[in-house]
Amino acid sequence: MKLLVNEIFYSIQGEGPNVGKPAIFLRLGGCNLKCKWCDSKFTWHPKYSENQNLLNIKIIQQIKKFPCNHLVITGGEPLLQQNGLKELLSELKNYYIEIETNGSIPLKIWELIEHINCSPKLKNSDNLPYPLQISPTDKKVIYKFVVKIKSDLTEIKSYCKKYKIPKSKIWLMPEGTSRNKILEKSKWLIEICKKEGYNFSPRLHIMLWGNKRST
Ligand code: SF4
Repeated sequence: MKLLVNEIFYSIQGEGPNVGKPAIFLRLGGCNLKCKWCDSKFTWHPKYSENQNLLNIKIIQQIKKFPCNHLVITGGEPLLQQNGLKELLSELKNYYIEIETNGSIPLKIWELIEHINCSPKLKNSDNLPYPLQISPTDKKVIYKFVVKIKSDLTEIKSYCKKYKIPKSKIWLMPEGTSRNKILEKSKWLIEICKKEGYNFSPRLHIMLWGNKRST
């Protein structure tokens, strides 16, 4: 079976509860949303054509070259390719598998994944609202929200109330594709997290390398 792949690289996890852990990144191509501020447009925008169909066996060969057994599957929206992922992950049973999703597609491969970073998109993404498909009742799931301006908090609060997402499962991260923008927003966002009891997530890869590919 093949997967539409954008890139495979080795770095550290820059966001969420596993921030700082060395990890291999399998970035898949294609997305069902079009976020205005998307920092990985190269995975889905028609003006780029960098995705390639790769056989699972080739993907596994590339993954196994790296000295690490933590694999982050990202995109794009990886859950668009769950049939191919099911076959791939059944060959990577000794890996810790973390997946990123926008929460718009039901997950059918729970048993093959250890950790799910669900990042529902708010109005600031310019997408139409969509129903959350990833339930907070599962222990493996956490939710990351990109915060652009302070008033986004009102929407996050009502969203989490609607879907019964506890604060312990919520990570807030600053929107931005430059170090300065992230730094400036982090300062007030950390204060909000302290006051409201949310977790803060940096975007370490942007702080370290800016909006650079394969980092
Ligand atoms: S869901 Fe993620 S990959 Fe898709 S457009 Fe939004 S930010 Fe980009």
